[in-house]
Amino acid sequence: MRIDLHAHSTASDGTDTPAELVATAAASGLNAVALTDHDTTAGWAEAVDALPAGLRLIRGAEFSCIASDGRGGGVSIHLLGYLFDPDAEVITAEQARLRDERRTRLRAMAERMATDGFPVDPDVLLAGLPPDAPAGRPHLARALVSAGVVSSVAEAFHRFLNTGGPYYIGRADTDVRTVIRMVRAAGGVPVLAHPAADRCGPLVLPDLIAELAAEGLAGVEADHPEHTGDERDGLRDLATALGLLITGSSDYHGANKAVLLGQETTDPEVLERIEELAARSGVPAVTG
Ligand code: AMP
Ligand code: ZN
Ligand code: FE
Ligand code: FE
Repeated sequence: MRIDLHAHSTASDGTDTPAELVATAAASGLNAVALTDHDTTAGWAEAVDALPAGLRLIRGAEFSCIASDGRGGGVSIHLLGYLFDPDAEVITAEQARLRDERRTRLRAMAERMATDGFPVDPDVLLAGLPPDAPAGRPHLARALVSAGVVSSVAEAFHRFLNTGGPYYIGRADTDVRTVIRMVRAAGGVPVLAHPAADRCGPLVLPDLIAELAAEGLAGVEADHPEHTGDERDGLRDLATALGLLITGSSDYHGANKAVLLGQETTDPEVLERIEELAARSGVPAVTG
């Protein structure tokens, strides 16, 4: 059994449509894949409709969160929610607020670049996204590639868009404890995404992971393309000590990132446990 529990589609900042994503998953020899777009469940229906025979789909999302660092600042955190009720009021209201926040922030980044003479038009950029889509830096990065400013998405991040870079602007993300409660209230299973991927901000430290475990966190993504071997080992030990599930996933973004679907995988027993924990959400894993 090969299971990949973290992948993005065109419903957020991936380049495969949800239908293409599930087809790619089957072609990659996966038995199960999770669709986890940033701050939206808009891709779920298309993925279910297009599900290839025998492939299991875990519907989910990746929530943009923030945790106070105790010194007046915040640590950016990504939280995966699996198999939650997408119509729960707590979920829909907060995801709508975040998508709005994402648009405002991406527009501000594009405006700052336009002011400095770069050939990006904030109106064209935002009009080119699907209505209500969660706008993200990869969209601006692709616009910069199209305009010939850079030759790749990676170069756009490196020169302009990385956290702390010259055109980076932050966002009012949701407090991570609120998101854990939201996902739980909607019957889903919260798992901490890539805690050691420091490209997305400072590391998520063990003390904070322990606090989140006490708040209802169910698991930790230990295997992720941006984690070193030592980081994976450390996260495994920590998860075991805290009684958390251990997952592995590629965080596939299609052509926007150099990782393959199925590059990292999760044990079947862990997926079984996730499904058990979500048994009452009304959103089961489905097999095509
Ligand atoms: P945002 O949600 O707008 O803050 O953008 C974050 C997204 O950009 C995440 O999905 C990351 O996977 C992606 N990202 C961050 N750094 C890079 C990079 N250097 N190259 C390509 N994608 C990146
Ligand atoms: Zn992304
Ligand atoms: Fe992430
Ligand atoms: Fe992701």
